[in-house]
Amino acid sequence: MAKKQAIIKDTVTSLNPTESFQSSVDLNKEAWALRKKNPQQALELAKKAELIAEKNRDDHQIAASKSILGEALFWLSDFEKGLTYAEDALLLFKKIKDDHGIAVSYNTIGNIYHRQSNCDLALEYHLKSLDLRKKLSDRSEEGYSLNNIGNIYLEIGDYANAMEYYIQSLKIAQDMKDARGEAGSLNNIGNVYQRLEEYENALDYYHKCLANIQNFHDVTIETSCLNNLGSLYHLNKDYEKALSYFFNSLEITRKLNDKWGEELLMVNIGNVYLSLDEDAKARQYFMDSLSLSQEIGDLEGQIEGLLGLGRLYLKELDGNHALTFLNQALELVQNASYQESIYRIHESLTEAYELINDPEQALHHCKKFIALKDEFFQNEITKKTRVLKIRYESEQAQNEKEIYRLKNEELAAAYERLRSLNISLREANEQKSQLLEQLRVQTQALEKQTREDSLTGLNNRRYLDFLLAQEFERTKRYNSALSVAIADIDHFKRVNDNFSHQIGDEVLKQVAVIFKQNSRVIDTISRYGGEEFVFFFPETPLQKAILACEKIRKSIETFNWKAIHKNLHVTISIGITSDISVHSHEKMISLADNKLYEAKQKGRNQIRY
Ligand code: GH3
Ligand code: MG
Ligand code: MG
Repeated sequence: MAKKQAIIKDTVTSLNPTESFQSSVDLNKEAWALRKKNPQQALELAKKAELIAEKNRDDHQIAASKSILGEALFWLSDFEKGLTYAEDALLLFKKIKDDHGIAVSYNTIGNIYHRQSNCDLALEYHLKSLDLRKKLSDRSEEGYSLNNIGNIYLEIGDYANAMEYYIQSLKIAQDMKDARGEAGSLNNIGNVYQRLEEYENALDYYHKCLANIQNFHDVTIETSCLNNLGSLYHLNKDYEKALSYFFNSLEITRKLNDKWGEELLMVNIGNVYLSLDEDAKARQYFMDSLSLSQEIGDLEGQIEGLLGLGRLYLKELDGNHALTFLNQALELVQNASYQESIYRIHESLTEAYELINDPEQALHHCKKFIALKDEFFQNEITKKTRVLKIRYESEQAQNEKEIYRLKNEELAAAYERLRSLNISLREANEQKSQLLEQLRVQTQALEKQTREDSLTGLNNRRYLDFLLAQEFERTKRYNSALSVAIADIDHFKRVNDNFSHQIGDEVLKQVAVIFKQNSRVIDTISRYGGEEFVFFFPETPLQKAILACEKIRKSIETFNWKAIHKNLHVTISIGITSDISVHSHEKMISLADNKLYEAKQKGRNQIRY
C-alpha cells in the first residue's frame, strides 16, 4: 500500500533584490525563477551571483543568493546543506532588516524541517513566516504559508487543522486570482479527503487541481497531484491506473532532479507491483528507492523502502531476509514517530518470526502490533471524528448562512415588490390627487362661474336670486329686517358712446370696486344686469340702508374718474326698499326698481326709497 503521499511545499514567487549590482541581481533573478524547474541550474547561477555579490560586498544580493541556494538545495533534497544556506540567509536578511527576505527564509527553513520530519520546528518557522507575511500584507504568500502549515498538520494526522488551513489558503488564492495557489490548495484538500477515506471527494479535488494547472505549468504541483491520484487508485485496487499516474509523476520528478519525490514514487510503484505479484519489479523499485532515500538522508523514505522489501520477502516466505530488512526498519523507526509505520513493522515482524518458527518473538511483536494498531486507530478515529465535527459545524454554519442569505434575498425581493407597488400606488395616488385637484380647481372655477360675474367679480344675477331668496325667507321667518337696493349708472350709454365700450367696461369694474370698499362683508352686492347692481342688507332697516346707499352714491360721485378719462364723470341713482310684506324677493327688487325709476325721473344722482 502506498503510504506516502506528496504534498505541495509552497515557496514564494519572488525575492526583492536591490538594483545595486546588475549582474548578481540578474543571476539571482534567473536562479530564483529556475529553482523548482531546474534546481541544479538555479544552484549554479546562485553560486555565481553569490561570488559577485561578495566581491562587491552587496549584503542584499549575498542574502538573496544564499536564500536561493537554500531553496534549490531543498528541491534537490539536500536538506542539511539547504538548511545551512537558509539560516545564513536569514541572519543576513535580519541584519539588513529585509522583512520580505526574512519571511522567505523562515518558509524555506520550515519546509526543510518538514522534509526532515521535524514537525515541531517546521510549524514554528511556518507560523513565523505567516505572521510576517500578514504584517507585510502579502496575501499570496500568506496563502502559501497557510498551505505549508496545513501540510504539517496533515503529516501529524491532524486532518481537521490541515483542512482548515488549506481552505483558508484556497480562499486567499481564489481572492487573489492566483491559479497556482488555488491548484496547490485543491490538491492538498484532495489529500485530506483521501486520508479521511472520502475517495470521491478526493478524486474531485485532484481533478480540479489538474484542470487548474492546465493554463499554466507548475510541475511541482502536477507531480504531486499525479502521485496522489496514483495512491488513490492503488487504495481502490485499480492497479493499472495507479501505475500509470505514478509513472507519469515519476517522469516529472526525474526531470526535476527531485530525489525526494523520486524515492517516494519508487516505493509507491514497488507497492503496486507487490499487489500485482510482480515481485522482481517490486524488489527493484524498493531497492532503488531505499538507496535514494539513504543518499538524501530521508528517514521516512528509508523506513518505507525497508518495510516494502520486508513484506516482499514475507510474501516469498523468506523469513530470514524479511527479518533483516524489517529489523533495520524497526531500528530507524525508534528515532522517529511514524505511528503507522511502527505497527506495520510489528505486524510484518510477527509474520517473519512465525515463518522462522520463533513463536516467542512472534508473540512479542504480535502483542506490540495489536496494541500499537489499536492505539493508532483509536487516534485516527479521534482525529477523523474531530474533522467530521468541525466540518459538520462549518457546513452547519454555511447552511445557516445560506438560509440567512436566501431569507435576505427573499425579503429583499419582497421589499422590492412592495416598494415598486408603493411607487405605483403613490404615483396613482399622486395622479389621483392631481386629478382631484384639477377637478377641484375646475369645479371651483365652474362654481365661481356660476356665481360670479366675470367682468366685475361681483355675484351674478343667478346667485343673487339664490342668496336673496334664502335671505328673504329667513327674514320673513324671523320677522327681522331686510333692505334691498338697486343701483343704476346714470347715462351710461353716453359713457360708451362718448368714450368707448372699453372705457365703459373700466367704469363698470371701478364701480364694483367702490361698492365693495363701501360695504360690510355681509352686504351682498350683485351685478343685476348691464349697468345695474343690486345690494341687500340683511338685518338692516330702511334708515340704515339709506345711509349706506347714500354713502355709496357719494363715493361714486366723488371718485376721481379723470384717472380713467379726463372728461369722465360718473354718478349713480339708487332705489331702496325695506318692505318685506311682499311675497317674494323678486317683488322686493321690483319695488326697489320702482324707486330707482323715480330717482331717474327726479334728475338722477340720488337715492329714492
Ligand atoms: P339712464 O341714466 O336712464 O340709466 O341711461 P342709460 O344710458 O344708462 O340707460 P340705458 O338702459 O339706455 O343704457 C344702458 C346701456 O349700458 C346700454 C348698453 O350699451 C350699456 N351696457 C350694458 N352692459 C354693458 C357692458 O357690459 N359694458 C359696456 N361697456 N356697456 C354696457
Ligand atoms: Mg339701466
Ligand atoms: Mg343707466
